[in-house]
Amino acid sequence: MNTSTSSPASALPEASGSAHSPDSPVFPAAARTLPRIVVLATGGTIAGAASDPANTAGYEAGVLSIEQLLATIPALGKVARLDAEQLANLDSKDMTLAFWTTLAQRVNALLGDDAIDGVVITHGTDTLEETAYLLHLTVKSSKPVVLTAAMRPATALSADGPLNLLNAVTLAASPAARGQGVLVALNNRIHSARDAVKTSTFAVDAFHSPEAGVLGWVQDARVELVRRVVRPHTLDTEFVIGSAWPHVEIVTSYAGVSRALVEGLVAAGVRGIVVAGTGNGSIHETLQQALVDALTQGIAVVRSSRVGSGHVMHNGAAADDALGFVTADSLNPYKARVLLMLALAAGAAGPVALQRVFDLY
Ligand code: ASP
Repeated sequence: MNTSTSSPASALPEASGSAHSPDSPVFPAAARTLPRIVVLATGGTIAGAASDPANTAGYEAGVLSIEQLLATIPALGKVARLDAEQLANLDSKDMTLAFWTTLAQRVNALLGDDAIDGVVITHGTDTLEETAYLLHLTVKSSKPVVLTAAMRPATALSADGPLNLLNAVTLAASPAARGQGVLVALNNRIHSARDAVKTSTFAVDAFHSPEAGVLGWVQDARVELVRRVVRPHTLDTEFVIGSAWPHVEIVTSYAGVSRALVEGLVAAGVRGIVVAGTGNGSIHETLQQALVDALTQGIAVVRSSRVGSGHVMHNGAAADDALGFVTADSLNPYKARVLLMLALAAGAAGPVALQRVFDLY
């Protein structure tokens, strides 16, 4: 589905513009020059619905259209001139690589239009951290791109989606958001796409940036950034979005783990394996031997951690150089997989070239 529409027509000055001359006192110049933001809807709980408002867990994600969501937030008309496109209506647990290509290409096409000032993407929370990091590395623009979501369906008591969406549009319309890469705005907090991860199955304060911390806050039309993104992103990366996705999977290290999953992946022809290690990326000896055997077949292996915060450094104790392992630094396994896919697609080969990528991004 790919419908394009201006929304919500009744709430926005521009929608009524033809009835008023450019000098109309009803629509002063300030209103006519509001930033033009496009909202790309992909689904998620923010577009979810349940028959019972008290039900915040047993609902269907990706049901309501973006027009229905925007129509509930008249305050958007004071923040931006909006266009909306329903690119999909997915539960983000079902995100596909093909859709990532579609989404990133659409964002790049929109931001290449001089008339458009920024993009907001509504998304499910489950895989938002992966999509956001993918876009952070492949959007070729310094204009703001902001992902937002909700933990409670649109029909719930105290639904968090409308305020999150208003705040995301406010952020995308702010000059402060330019050049910061892709941003994530939920629960009034602003995160870098590189750092944001989902850390709660139910709380509205579900996203955090472990170790790095938030970039800032957005509240009541005010945006405050308190730090800047340091690692290269968007225009400064070597990655371009394509439709070829190298096959990369994730395995986890745990007590009693066997070789079976790695052997199955090797048989399936994977190009890369990210291992979610214990602690500081340590790997059970059985799994490690299976991964070393995979390496001898030219498969890239990246060590990350299942802990959820901290980093996995390239180190002698783990004999990374001797074994040929790459380390993920502070990327969690899911973000490390995104980077490994992009690096392999860009032609990076071998542990030295891949480690450079992980050290940089
Ligand atoms: N399953 C939903 C999704 O990721 C969860 C959410 O949006 O909060 O689409």
